[in-house]
Amino acid sequence: MKAPRSVIVIGAGIIGASTAYELALRGVKVTLIEAREGAGLGTSYANGGQLSACEVAPWAGPEIPGLVLRWFGRDDAPFRLRPKMDPEQWLWLFRFLLRCRASARAERIPPNLEIALLTRARLAAYERDFAAAGSPLDFQRKEKGILRIFRDAHALTDAERESALITRLGLEQKRLSPAECAALEPALASAMQRGDIAGGLYASSDSSGDAHLFSRAMAEGGKRLGVTFLGNTGVTRILVEGGKAIGVETPQGAVEADAVVIAAGTETRALLAPFGIRSWIYPLKGYSVTLPAPEGNAPEVSITDEARKIVISRLGHRLRAAGQAEVGGYDLTLEPGRARSVMDALEGVLPQTAPLRGEAEYWCGLRPMTPDGSPVIGPVPGVAGLFVNSGHGTLGWTLGPGSAAALASLICDATPQPVLSPFFLQRF
Ligand SMILES: Cc1cc2nc3c(=O)[nH]c(=O)nc-3n(C[C@H](O)[C@H](O)[C@H](O)COP(=O)(O)OP(=O)(O)OC[C@H]3O[C@@H](n4cnc5c(N)ncnc54)[C@H](O)[C@@H]3O)c2cc1C
Repeated sequence: MKAPRSVIVIGAGIIGASTAYELALRGVKVTLIEAREGAGLGTSYANGGQLSACEVAPWAGPEIPGLVLRWFGRDDAPFRLRPKMDPEQWLWLFRFLLRCRASARAERIPPNLEIALLTRARLAAYERDFAAAGSPLDFQRKEKGILRIFRDAHALTDAERESALITRLGLEQKRLSPAECAALEPALASAMQRGDIAGGLYASSDSSGDAHLFSRAMAEGGKRLGVTFLGNTGVTRILVEGGKAIGVETPQGAVEADAVVIAAGTETRALLAPFGIRSWIYPLKGYSVTLPAPEGNAPEVSITDEARKIVISRLGHRLRAAGQAEVGGYDLTLEPGRARSVMDALEGVLPQTAPLRGEAEYWCGLRPMTPDGSPVIGPVPGVAGLFVNSGHGTLGWTLGPGSAAALASLICDATPQPVLSPFFLQRF
C-alpha cells in the first residue's frame, strides 16, 4: 500500500494523541476524533504516572491466580474478579490464565522493553521539538528514577532474579538496603523505621509524569503541525469500500481519509466487532487518588510499593497513588471502598499524607488490557488501510509514544518495522 495522504485517528488518549502527532510529523493530513470534549480525559486522565521501562513485565504471571483466590470476595482486594455473563470476559480470562507462566511473562519482556526505550527517545525528541516551537512540553516530568520497595526479603530476591533479564538487556537496577531506600528517598524514613521495608530495587533511568497533561499537550502540538481535532465526536462506525477503510461515520456526518487508526482504548473492541475481528482487549479497572504533596516531606522519586500494590508519583505540587486491578466489565462506577483502600495504602507507606486525606480526589479508569500484557499495534487483517494501536493495559504511558512512532513509520515509510511484528493482532 502506498503511503496515505490523510489519516483519521480515533481516540485522543496518550496513544491516539501521540499517534496523530507522529503521523503529522511525517507530513500526513491528520484528523484526530475524540468522543469526549478534550484529549486525555479517558483512561489517560489520572494514571499512576510511571514511565517504567524497567517494569515492562506483563501482569499475567504464575503468582496471579493464587493472589486472586486469596483475595476473593474482599472489598479492598488489589486484584478482583467479578464474573459476568459475558463470553468475552470468559474467553479473555481463559487466554489470560494460559499466560500465567513464568516463561510466557519472560517472552513479552524484550518486545515491550524495545517499545519502552523508543518511548524514552521520542519523549526527548518531543521535548526538543516543543521547545524549538516556543511552547515547552510540560507534563511535570520527574527524572528521579523509580524505586520498588518490598516488605518481604524473599519477594525482593524473586523480583531481583526476574529483573535480571531487563538488566541483561541493558537497563541497570540496583538492590538497596532499607537504609539506602530511605537515604535515596527521605519521605520513606518513617516506613523504614517501622521495619516496613526489607529493601528495594532502584531503576535510576526511569521517570514519571502526568499523562493527562501530556495527552493535552500532544493534541495541541499536533494542531501546530496541522492536525484537525474534532472533540465531542464519537465514531459510530468505520466506513469500508471494496475491502478498504475510507473514513468513519459520526453523528455529525461522515469524515473521509485514506487510512484509519483505532486508538480508542477499551472501546477498540466495539469498533472492530463489525468486521468479525476480536481485539482481545478487555477492561481492567483501576483507581487513583490525587492530593496536595505534603510540604517538606513529599517524595521526589516515584515509588512502587510491592506489598501494598500501589504506585506513587509526584506530579508538581500534587501526589498521586494508583492501584487496584478488577476484571469486571465496562462499569466505570467509582466504588468508595475501593478508592479509599488506595488512600489507606498510601497513608500506610507515607503517613505524612494522613492530614491531607480530606483534600483527596478519587478517580477510576479502565485499562485496555490484552491477555498477554502487550498492546495490539499494526494493520487490521482483511481491511486495507485500517490500523490499530490499543490494548496497552498497565503500560500505556510507558509504551505510548514508542508505539505511536513505530506505527506511524509502518504506515508512512512503507518499510517493514520488525519492532512491531510481536504486537500484530494475528498473534492471538
Ligand atoms: C489506575 C491506573 C494506573 C495506571 N498507571 C500507569 C502507570 O503508572 N504507567 C503506565 O505506563 N500506565 C499506567 N496505566 C495505564 C495507562 O493509563 C493506559 O494504558 C493508557 O491510558 C491507555 O491509553 P489509551 O490512549 O489507549 O486509552 P484512553 O486514554 O482511554 O484513550 C482512548 C480515547 O478514545 C476515546 N474514544 C473511545 N471510543 C471512541 C469513539 N468511538 N469515537 C471517538 N473517540 C473514542 C475515549 O473517549 C478516550 O479518550 C494506568 C491505568 C490505570 C487505570
